[in-house]
Amino acid sequence: MKLSDRIQSIEESKTVQFSSLIHNLRKQGKAVIDFAVGEPGFDPPQEVIDSTKEALDAQKTRYGPVAGLPELKAKLAGAFEGYGEENIILSNGSKQSLYSIFQAICDPDDEVIIPRPFWVSFSQQVKLAGAKPVFVDTKRHQLDVEEIEQAVNKRTRAIVINTPNNPTGAVYPKKILETVAGLALEHDLFIVSDESYNFFVYDGIESESIFSFKAVRDRTLVTRSFSKSFSMTGFRIGYVAASEDIIKGLAKLQGHLSGNVCTFAQYGALAAVSLNNDFIVQWRYQLQRRRDIAYEYVSKLFDCIRPQGAFYVFPDISKHLKSGETSEDFAAKILTHTGVAVVPGEAFGIPNHIRISYAVPEILLIKGFRKIAEVL
Ligand code: PLP
Repeated sequence: MKLSDRIQSIEESKTVQFSSLIHNLRKQGKAVIDFAVGEPGFDPPQEVIDSTKEALDAQKTRYGPVAGLPELKAKLAGAFEGYGEENIILSNGSKQSLYSIFQAICDPDDEVIIPRPFWVSFSQQVKLAGAKPVFVDTKRHQLDVEEIEQAVNKRTRAIVINTPNNPTGAVYPKKILETVAGLALEHDLFIVSDESYNFFVYDGIESESIFSFKAVRDRTLVTRSFSKSFSMTGFRIGYVAASEDIIKGLAKLQGHLSGNVCTFAQYGALAAVSLNNDFIVQWRYQLQRRRDIAYEYVSKLFDCIRPQGAFYVFPDISKHLKSGETSEDFAAKILTHTGVAVVPGEAFGIPNHIRISYAVPEILLIKGFRKIAEVL
């Protein structure tokens, strides 16, 4: 039987594909050093686990409000000046938030501008909404606002920004965000701001949000996630902060899509947002050290821009590619000869690059880089 044209038009998530490949290799008894991983690698804070267990013991196991627990929404709204619980909707991870966003804001044949390289699912989710992704290359991993403006036309509906960025680790400065805000205002566009990595910025810099520009608040949809910030990937909890009208639209969709997010998991999330910052200061410190180690090795082997956020480096590997060799071939070669898994740049829309996640223990990080260096 033929599946829908819509499903046939999208590609499988290359990062998900990679995780299954690593899982299978490990099942066969092969040792793999996983530099492909998209998780911070820490255990969630104990309070999160305790609170989730307590919720289960207290039978918090039934359906709940579609948009999420009111007390959790109220806490999350606290990070957005002027917003209340009516401005927040919880989802099963920011992946679902983003899927719903594109369904809610795009009509068929609308265009959505996506800076390239990009996180794997943006373009496929835009296509699933019947719209067209339009890619605009970044310049040294920073937004090229002039190029973005050139790509805007009558059909453009939204601009996607992702800071700190997956896969590059770039953090967009306030000045650039202000220019993007101006552009959105001038051309009447939505801004989809994926801030999944907002806790992970280094070198003492702040993670800026385009939400800070009041003039664009009614057209900005911010997505954040418990996956990276609290290392709660398996809990599947993300959320959107936006104007009340947008949240109502998203809730209408979610009422048919999934209903509420797992009830007891939301109690874990409530414990997470009630914690003080101590754990995040520690995690940030550890990740910054690993970033430094990773960057030191990577910049000796490849051309690389120093990342300031998330937990990835995204080097240009052109000088190591043989004629006709792609970064997919290169990643396969590295995996076969060293047992180190990295993600090829094609997954993020650009060739001749690989994404290396440094969210692995330091000892493995060093071992993995030594193996890559030997092979190269
Ligand atoms: N957005 C970005 C930029 C990501 O890197 C990821 C996960 O890797 C997601 C969204 C989805 O995260 P989750 O659905 O776990 O919240």
